[in-house]
Amino acid sequence: MDPLEILSVSSVVAPFAKTGGLADVCNALPAGLVRHGERARAVMPFYGRVRKEVRAKPVPGLQSLRFEMGGKDYGASVHRTTLPGSKTEVLLVDVPGLFDGDAIYDGDRDALRFLAFSRAVIALMQWEGRAPDILHCHDWHTALLPLFLKKAYDWDRLFAQTKTVLTIHNLGYQGVVPASHIGALGLEPIRSALHQDELAQGRFSCLLHGILYADVLTTVSKTYAREIRTPEHGMGLDRVLEARKDSLFGIVNGIDDRIWNPRTDTAIAATYDAEDRSGKVRCKKDLAKHFGLELGPTTPLFGIVSRLTPQKGFELLPDVLPVFLQREDMALVVLGSGDERHERYFAWLEDAFRGRVGFHRGYDDALAHRIEAGADAFLMPSRYEPCGLNQLYSLAYGTIPIVRRTGGLADTVVDWDPETGAGNGFVFDDFTSAALQQAIRRCLDAWKFDKGWARLQENAMAVDFSWDKQILEYVTLYERLARRSSV
Ligand code: ADP
Repeated sequence: MDPLEILSVSSVVAPFAKTGGLADVCNALPAGLVRHGERARAVMPFYGRVRKEVRAKPVPGLQSLRFEMGGKDYGASVHRTTLPGSKTEVLLVDVPGLFDGDAIYDGDRDALRFLAFSRAVIALMQWEGRAPDILHCHDWHTALLPLFLKKAYDWDRLFAQTKTVLTIHNLGYQGVVPASHIGALGLEPIRSALHQDELAQGRFSCLLHGILYADVLTTVSKTYAREIRTPEHGMGLDRVLEARKDSLFGIVNGIDDRIWNPRTDTAIAATYDAEDRSGKVRCKKDLAKHFGLELGPTTPLFGIVSRLTPQKGFELLPDVLPVFLQREDMALVVLGSGDERHERYFAWLEDAFRGRVGFHRGYDDALAHRIEAGADAFLMPSRYEPCGLNQLYSLAYGTIPIVRRTGGLADTVVDWDPETGAGNGFVFDDFTSAALQQAIRRCLDAWKFDKGWARLQENAMAVDFSWDKQILEYVTLYERLARRSSV
């Protein structure tokens, strides 16, 4: 069969711009597709900070794109680079005046910035005279592309065969603006195609319109695909998602084992594998030293690497951690930034338990690797978690995840059963401190039982979440979509 042409369009692509898991996926997906033999490219905005750091070449013929939006003329230009260690092409789109600064996200200006970016992507395809079989959009930032192709550019035969996929990485971010903004966003000419009830309520949601118009919807785990069709997790979109359930698929993210692999990781103190985990002991010592921790020979070290947002469930910790830290021989390292409340809490905890708790406020990729390698267990008490990558990294590094049974955490972590020796982590159900407390208790019990812990680590490291496996699910979906009229 001929290779498929896929254009993956997103606000971020790692390593050029990253704030969380979305960037990792938008790197790994096109790269994996290219390895599979497809013709895949990624497109993202050319942020000011990326311009300073990335060597990219101007694409001939794409230096003075023009498009109109909301009665205003915009210009755009396109540069080209490749993903590090891969031939996969990344197109970097600049719209002067909108992406000049270092910021990836910029609050109230974002709807305008990303809609202009989306328009520029359409101009890019038109000027190249090259439309993909699959236009794969990610999250609200690029969710309007399907609407544009179907309602604003339906006159252009170039796109007649193009199918659109929208992946929802996180329903918590919907790109909602006041309805009064739709003029400036260039949506007035297609007003009749917009969700009228929503407009009547004075709102316009980019993600909602992506859900309505994309040919196929995916999200990043099977459990999350089910959860978002319920009022509890649907964040106001459960009914539209339910209505589209036959076109909504859950495909769990993979991990890029060229980047997250304890055998080859250059950021960690010593490499190791499932057969010989002695390097992990050195990684733990290195991590403890970095944070100035004083660990006994059998002190278990817990780790957290996360955005500190309400989604991640850290409000469960204050009722649990101080008591454990007072009564048990255990230590904790935390890397993250976000809500001030959580930042203050972890700073307090570090202060209250000097030598046993370390907190690094900020974003630090190398330190994230050192925590994944050096910690014994990893805490993810998420309120909701579309897929979650850190529990996958933890499994690969033999670092036992403690997670709540939600979204991708439910699909990837199997609760430990000391009787049978099955399981690779600790899973709790209720979003309560008591449930988390019990899970940590069970983890500490397993830690004290040497053989059990070794078995847990073996089970964890045996799991295969490499992208090459997950890519096949996307290819199957694309094939069905591109080669047939409906999925
Ligand atoms: P989300 O996308 O909701 O933030 P995921 O678990 O899917 O959560 O992905 C988080 C990604 O971001 C992982 O690659 C993780 O290592 C990284 N990350 C999150 N916070 C930090 C931080 N403070 N420093 C370094 N990496 C971080």
